[in-house]
Amino acid sequence: NNKLYKQELNFKIIVIGDYGVGKTSIIRRYTEGEFSTDYRITIGADFAIKTIEWDEGTRINLHVWDIAGHERFGSLLSVFFRHAVAAAIVFDLTRPDTFKSVDKWLIDLRRKIQAPDGQAIPVVILANKGDIIVKTVPQEIDEYCKLNNILAWYITSAKNNMNIDEVMIRLTNAAVKNH
Ligand code: GDP
Ligand code: MG
Repeated sequence: NNKLYKQELNFKIIVIGDYGVGKTSIIRRYTEGEFSTDYRITIGADFAIKTIEWDEGTRINLHVWDIAGHERFGSLLSVFFRHAVAAAIVFDLTRPDTFKSVDKWLIDLRRKIQAPDGQAIPVVILANKGDIIVKTVPQEIDEYCKLNNILAWYITSAKNNMNIDEVMIRLTNAAVKNH
């Protein structure tokens, strides 16, 4: 009876975007359930693991990768993207220039990572710091998502825990479907 044996899936999800938009805070909120206002400047790629009992027969270990400081040096090394099955691109609602950078991050991502079948990996865009201000959501975001094959966009807050779980479930769902 194979019900006795849970299949265990390991999925790598990457979180990218400009410096200071809240990537580390989002990952920390999701994997540790915490938020702090300290900047944690770590150099190098870093990841945290969250285990989800997905269904009766499936356990998923999500490896959520943080670019940890390298965002300031421009484009990322290909090794950071390797084997990623989904991605979140984060910008900061209080700094409109960080939305302009989303396109740069998406181009880098699409150049460096594809699913094994050659398809684009699922990507969501996160408009973070939604607890501070939500009036500045860029008007063009819907259109941008449609044109660029973005799965969805969300207003998030790592501080208030807004939409963080939803985002991760959505990405995991997409990864499971592609698996
Ligand atoms: P990263 O450089 O993209 O990893 O950004 P950090 O996670 O280090 O966050 C940068 C700063 O923004 C820190 O001071 C965080 O406390 C703050 N921050 C991150 N997310 C939020 C949020 O959702 N709301 C608010 N108000 N501040 C946030
Ligand atoms: Mg960081």
